[in-house]
Amino acid sequence: MLKLREVVILNKYVEEIIEKVKKENPGETEFHNTVKEVLTSIAPVLDKNPKYQEAALLERLVEPERTIMFRVPWTDDKGKVHVNKGYRVQFNSAIGPYKGGLRLHPSVNLSIIKFLGFEQVFKNSLTTLPIGGGKGGSNFDPKGKSDAEIMRFCQSFMTELYRHIGQDVDVPAGDIGVGGREIGYLFGQYKRLKNAYEAGVLTGKGLTYGGSLARTEATGYGLLYFTSLYLADNGMDYKDKTVVISGSGNVATYAIEKAQEFGAKVVACSDSNGYVYDPEGIDLKLVKEIKEVRRGRIKEYAEKKPSAKYTEGCKGIWTIPCDIALPCATQQELDLESAKTLVANGVKLVGEGANMPCTLEAIAYIQENKVLFAPAKAANAGGVATSALEMAQNSMRYSWTFEEVDSKLKRIMSDIYNASKNAAKEYGHEGDLLVGCNIAGFLKVANAMMAQGIV
Ligand code: GLU
Repeated sequence: MLKLREVVILNKYVEEIIEKVKKENPGETEFHNTVKEVLTSIAPVLDKNPKYQEAALLERLVEPERTIMFRVPWTDDKGKVHVNKGYRVQFNSAIGPYKGGLRLHPSVNLSIIKFLGFEQVFKNSLTTLPIGGGKGGSNFDPKGKSDAEIMRFCQSFMTELYRHIGQDVDVPAGDIGVGGREIGYLFGQYKRLKNAYEAGVLTGKGLTYGGSLARTEATGYGLLYFTSLYLADNGMDYKDKTVVISGSGNVATYAIEKAQEFGAKVVACSDSNGYVYDPEGIDLKLVKEIKEVRRGRIKEYAEKKPSAKYTEGCKGIWTIPCDIALPCATQQELDLESAKTLVANGVKLVGEGANMPCTLEAIAYIQENKVLFAPAKAANAGGVATSALEMAQNSMRYSWTFEEVDSKLKRIMSDIYNASKNAAKEYGHEGDLLVGCNIAGFLKVANAMMAQGIV
C-alpha cells in the first residue's frame, strides 16, 4: 500500500497546489496541514481523472468563496470596553448552504478557522445531506465570564454576522466555547435584527425554540456508532475494553455515555488544564454535574472521587494504557510521541472525536503499526449531520422524537463508514479510512462544482 508521503511525489498537480497554498497563505500552518492531508489522499482520484485539473478544481477548492473578518466590541460587567476579532469563512456552497460551527477560544485565528472550514466541506459532504462548508468564531475567551458578559459578546457578534447568514445562505452552530446558552443569545439577537422567526438560521438550539432532540448527544454518539462498526469489521467490540477519552465538553461527555452503554470502561477524561485518571471508571454523573451544571474544572472530579487522580497538563492522558483512545478535546492534541506510547501500550483503535486532534506524524505512525484509525471527518460527522436534521425539522415546522433522530443518525454513520471503506478499496487503499473518507467527501463536492460551471 502507498504511504501518504509517497503519493505526494506521484501527483504533480497535488504537489503544486500544496506549494501554492503555503506560498499564498503564509504562516497558516493548521490550514496548510489540513490541505496537505486531504489533497495527498485524493491523489489517486486526480491520477485517474484529468478533467479536475483542466477545470482548476483544486485551485478553487482551496480558496474560500468568501472570508468575513470583523470587530466585536463588548463591555464587561465593570463597564470596561473590550474588542475581539470575529470571523466567518464561507468555504464552499456547492452542495448546500454553508454550514459549520462557531468557536470561541483564545487560540482562534484565521488559520484555525480556515482549517476547520476546509475540513467541514468534506465532512458535510460525507453526511449525505445537502450542506456546504463554513466555520467561524472569535478569539474571545469565555472562561470565567459571567452570563451577562457572554450575552453582550454574543449580541455584538451577531450584530455584524446577521447580514452574512440565513437559513438558505449560511447556518452556524456550536463548537468549542459555543453551546446551548450561546446559541440562544445569538438566535435572540438575529431574530430581533431580522424581525423574522427563521428557526433554521442556527442549529444546536434549545428544545423550546426549534432545537432537535439528540443534537446534543449526536457527535459523541455518532463517534461510538462509527467506531463500533469499524471494530466489528475487525472482529472486536467495546465490551469490557479500557477506553481513554480526552476532553469533557459536549463531544467527550456523550462519547463517554455511549461507550459505557456499550459495556466499555472509560478510565480518563480531561479539560484544557489537566486530566483525571479513575481506574474504577469515570462517574459520568459527576462529570456532567461539574462541567454542564456548574461550568467548573475537571480537577474538582478528583476532589470528589477518592479513586481518581488529577494530573496538571493534558498530554499525559495518552500514557494511560488503553485498548481504545478517543481524542475529543481539540486539534493537534495527540502527537507522534503520544502515538508511540499508545501503540507500545497495545492500543487497538484511535478514533478522532475532535477536529484534527492527531498530528499528521501521529496518524502515519498509528497506521503504519496496523492500529485502526477512525478519521475525524468521518467519525465526528454525527454532530453536523444532526444539525442538518434540525434544519430539516425547522423547514417542516415539525419535530421528530429522540428515537427517530437517533435512528437516522445511526444510519448516517453507517453510510459514512461504508462510503469511506468502499472508496478506499476502489482507489487501491483498502482498509485506510482516512484516504477513503477524503475521497468520498471530495467526489461529491467536486462533481457538484463541475456541474455548476466555473464558479
Ligand atoms: N462544530 C461541529 C463540527 O465541527 C458541528 C457543526 C454544525 O453542527 O454545524 O462539525
